[in-house]
Parts: sequence; C-alpha cells; structure tokens
Amino acid sequence: MQQRGLVVLGSSGTIGRLTLEVAGRHPARLRIVGLAAGRNAALLAEQILAHRPEAVALADPAAAESLRTEVGDRWRGEILAGPEGIARLAAWPTGQIVVNGMVGAAGLVSTLAALEAGRTLGLANKESLFIAGHLVRHALAAGGGALLPIDSEHSAIFQCLQGRSREEIARVTLTASGGPFRDLSLEALERVSAPEALRHPTWRMGARITVDAATLFNKGVELVEARWLFDLPPERVRAVIHPQSIVHGLVELKDGSVIAQLSRPDMRLPIQFALSHPERWGPAAPPCDLAAIGRLTFEEPDEDRFPGLRLARAAGDIGGTAPAAVNAADEVLVEAFLAGRIPLPAIARGLAIILERHAPEPNPTLEQVLAADAGARREARALLHDAARALSR
Ligand code: MG
Repeated sequence: MQQRGLVVLGSSGTIGRLTLEVAGRHPARLRIVGLAAGRNAALLAEQILAHRPEAVALADPAAAESLRTEVGDRWRGEILAGPEGIARLAAWPTGQIVVNGMVGAAGLVSTLAALEAGRTLGLANKESLFIAGHLVRHALAAGGGALLPIDSEHSAIFQCLQGRSREEIARVTLTASGGPFRDLSLEALERVSAPEALRHPTWRMGARITVDAATLFNKGVELVEARWLFDLPPERVRAVIHPQSIVHGLVELKDGSVIAQLSRPDMRLPIQFALSHPERWGPAAPPCDLAAIGRLTFEEPDEDRFPGLRLARAAGDIGGTAPAAVNAADEVLVEAFLAGRIPLPAIARGLAIILERHAPEPNPTLEQVLAADAGARREARALLHDAARALSR
C-alpha cells in the first residue's frame, strides 16, 4: 500500500477537522505533510503535535508569530504566513493530495496553486468554481492533476458517474434539504431570527453556509459549480428539494435510467471518497438503514419564496465577474442578517440590486475576479448603510 502526502487547507474549520479525523483512521495510506488555517494558532498547535506535518501556514501573520511560541521546541517544522504562505503550502513538494476546506474567495488562490502544480485537489471551497470556474478548469488542464469534489451533492454525482461516459448523461440533479424555513410563507420569512436560521435540520456547518442553505443561495451556487465540474450546460443541471438529506445527487442517463447516491448526511463520506478515489476504503459514516429512515420525499424548489436560488444561477448565466460580485455581496449581507441588521429576505433583495448594478467583465483574470469581489463588498456595505431601511421594507 502506497502512502500519500496530504495537505489540509482550512484545518481549523468543519471540513478541515473532519479531514484530519478521516486521515487519522488511515495512517498507512495518508501522511499529513501540511496544515493551513486562518488565525486559530491554538488549535493549529494541537493539530501540529498530533499529526507532525512538515510545514504549516496561517493567513494572519500575527497568529503565525504566536504559533512559534505556542509549539516552542516540540516541533521544528516550517511556519509560513499570509496568503502567499498558504498558496506555497498548496503546492508543497511532498503533498500529493490537497484538501481545500478554506472559506471564502481567499480559497481560490490556493485552488489554482494546487492545480497548477499538478496536485490531486479535493475541493470543498465553494467560491473557487462559482467565482472562477474558467480559471480552475484552465489550471487543472495546465497542471495535469485531478479535481475531486468534496461537497456532498457533487461528490454524489461524481460517484454516480463512475464508469459512465459523458455521452450517456442526460442531466444531473442536486438535492437540497430546503433548510429550516422550507414551509414558511414570505411574510413569516421576514421575521425569522439568526439563531433560527442557524438551526439546520440535517447538516452541521459553518454560519454563512447555514444561512445560504436557508435562503437556497447555496443551492444556486452549487448548480453553477456542477456546470463547471461536470462540463454540462445550465439546462442539464437542476435542483430538487429533499428534506431528509439521504439522496445527495442523481444522474439521469440518456435511456431514462436514474442512478442516485444515498448515505446519511455525514461529510466524512465525501471527504473519504476524495482521499480514496478511485478506491473505496472501510466505513466513513454510519450505515444507511432505509427502513429506519422510512420516507424519502421530493418537491420542486419555490423560487418566489427563495429567490437566492435564482440569483446565484443568474450570476452563473451572466458569467465573467458576476458570480464573484454576487458571492462577495452575499457574504456581507449574510453577516448583516446574522448581526440582526436586516431580515432574511433582504439578503436576496440586496443581491438583486448588486447584480443589476454590476457591469460584468467577461473572461476575467484572477486579479479582475478579486477586484470584483472587493468592489461588490464595498457596494454591499454602502447599500446597507444607505438603504438598510429600504432593504428591510
Ligand atoms: Mg452541499
């Protein structure tokens, strides 16, 4: 059995910690060679002592300083700092597999660095494909590595596609739980609180993505990601509401047959498949007892109550810098909702305004993508400042 070097970017986050848990169960197959986090030096120090990587990186230079003091002479590896440090780690010479679990547009630079270096990339950073799918595909082709999805829906579709040829695919379907407010009226949605939005019925995730799941913006982002990942036109990628989160994705073949992937909602499974591909290793998640689950239901998403789905998809249709702008604005607006400044539906109202005002740059460079991100962030903040009352109705 060949042992491969693994780099985990975003090791203090949900995906990063689960990746270390999965890798820890397969020490003969995986060796942790690099870890990167944002600013949590204390947790990174713990992870360093548990996994003994060759190098680590922290986005925050001050946190990188305090990490040296934290680990002292118990570990003598290299400590890199800043976004450049993380990008260097993404292409670390002994890292054959890189898991990118970073949150936000900052993850894009590392995605490109890993792919340009020809690495196998397990991608959990949603922004990479949504805001710069063309750059990701270009880096993948240039480096000759591999891109394996870690998002549960994309992993499901990827698993269903094993052994299939592209010509056999009629269309793919991503499922959405519908979030905690699936059955609420538009009026009731105006009154939901941040703590209610953070109570996701089936998945445990970070705050922003949990709110994005509640508005269905996340599902729209995932539809656009799927277009890039599987090289499919928009009309062949769709979403269906499935509250139980047991079926994660479906592939309809041209003869009308549908192949689905089912499992308990547990991110350890898609993470492990990205690490084991093309092999299958021992159990990553508890077994899926269908009789105990009892019912699987499906319904059409309601885009009138959840326009976030349509807005993310529309940004993908426009292309260029439009997804970067909408994504950055969403981050700012979600923060404002979490702080109690605007009601939940105001997120979509703000996104519609930002999308309408944005003049998209076609086929943007990395710099143009990041500039669109920064510009939309400023616009969204100005919108909150000038028009918070209008957004709130
Ligand atoms: Mg997902």
